[in-house]
Amino acid sequence: MKTLLIGEYREGKFLDSTYELFGFAAQLGAETSLFLVGSESTLPAGGAIYLADAASCGEYNPDLHKLLILDAVQRENPDYVVFLHSSYGWDLAPRVAAALKLAQVSEVIGVQDGVFEVGCCNGKMRRSVKPAGPKAVLTIQAGAFQGVQPTGALSVTKLSNDTASPMEFVGYEPAEAKGIDLARAEIIVSAGRGVGKKENVQIIAALAKALGGELGASRPVVDAEWVAHDHQVGTTGQTVAPKLYVACGISGAIQHLAGMKKSDFILAINKDKDAPIGEVADVLVVADLMQFVPALTAQLQK
Ligand SMILES: Cc1cc2nc3c(=O)[nH]c(=O)nc-3n(C[C@H](O)[C@H](O)[C@H](O)COP(=O)(O)OP(=O)(O)OC[C@H]3O[C@@H](n4cnc5c(N)ncnc54)[C@H](O)[C@@H]3O)c2cc1C
Repeated sequence: MKTLLIGEYREGKFLDSTYELFGFAAQLGAETSLFLVGSESTLPAGGAIYLADAASCGEYNPDLHKLLILDAVQRENPDYVVFLHSSYGWDLAPRVAAALKLAQVSEVIGVQDGVFEVGCCNGKMRRSVKPAGPKAVLTIQAGAFQGVQPTGALSVTKLSNDTASPMEFVGYEPAEAKGIDLARAEIIVSAGRGVGKKENVQIIAALAKALGGELGASRPVVDAEWVAHDHQVGTTGQTVAPKLYVACGISGAIQHLAGMKKSDFILAINKDKDAPIGEVADVLVVADLMQFVPALTAQLQK
């Protein structure tokens, strides 16, 4: 089985998230080749690569990148063309799927025996999906697969396409800085739906203060307007990597884990001993946060 993995490159840098594509292919037991619009100076150390030059093709140009990918598909004849479920991937994948007349399966979080697992019901459940045909276009959820380095000798095939495009890549504009920047915080204490109601968020905020850290939150807490969006951690919030991350009443959905699992030390407080957060936590305290968190805060304040 063959996969063509669509790597990512931004502001002159090869993105490490690309290695998650190799992790996915390893779980699938598939051969890999990488497609990248990037630069020869920032390639992985090994593997077969189809490379188009970002300087001439633009770091992002969906028309042109689609044509370049179709060229690589024709040469490689892969079973699966695999994108990251990123702003690059979710824009480009449907264009490629439509051009190839293939099914697309989006936000894959697992794979078993050729059946893909996709989150549903706001991440509460998983659906098993099998494309009708033998080939498909896939996008994989950020953080769902461990990064893996490609193996084998490096071989680079250069691609180019002179088709005039109505689009031109202009550049990136940083988002206006507002609120707190959790990405720089060394300690984050996050409130999940397990806090129960808005008034209880202050119990989590008090622990954050006692530890000298910042308050984070899962998405339901933000959606309920208990905490402002700039505190949200996860795929649709901020990606953080503090020295200490304390998850209070957070189940550990893949979209939350993608935003915090690179933290140095993860302490989770959850009344469910089987909560998925336990799989990434260094320490899981099985307790009612309403009892445990104020007691911990009081000890720290002594
Ligand atoms: C496209 C998309 C993007 C998303 N982006 C994000 C994102 O950026 N960030 C994010 O967080 N989520 C995101 N989600 C939502 C995600 O799928 C989960 O629904 C969400 O993370 C669950 O939040 P939670 O863990 O706080 O709540 P729940 O899953 O409801 O978990 C609550 C936990 O609290 C525990 N608990 C309850 N009461 C107590 C108590 N008294 N003491 C201790 N523990 C208790 C429960 O055992 C449970 O484990 C996204 C979903 C989608 C579909």
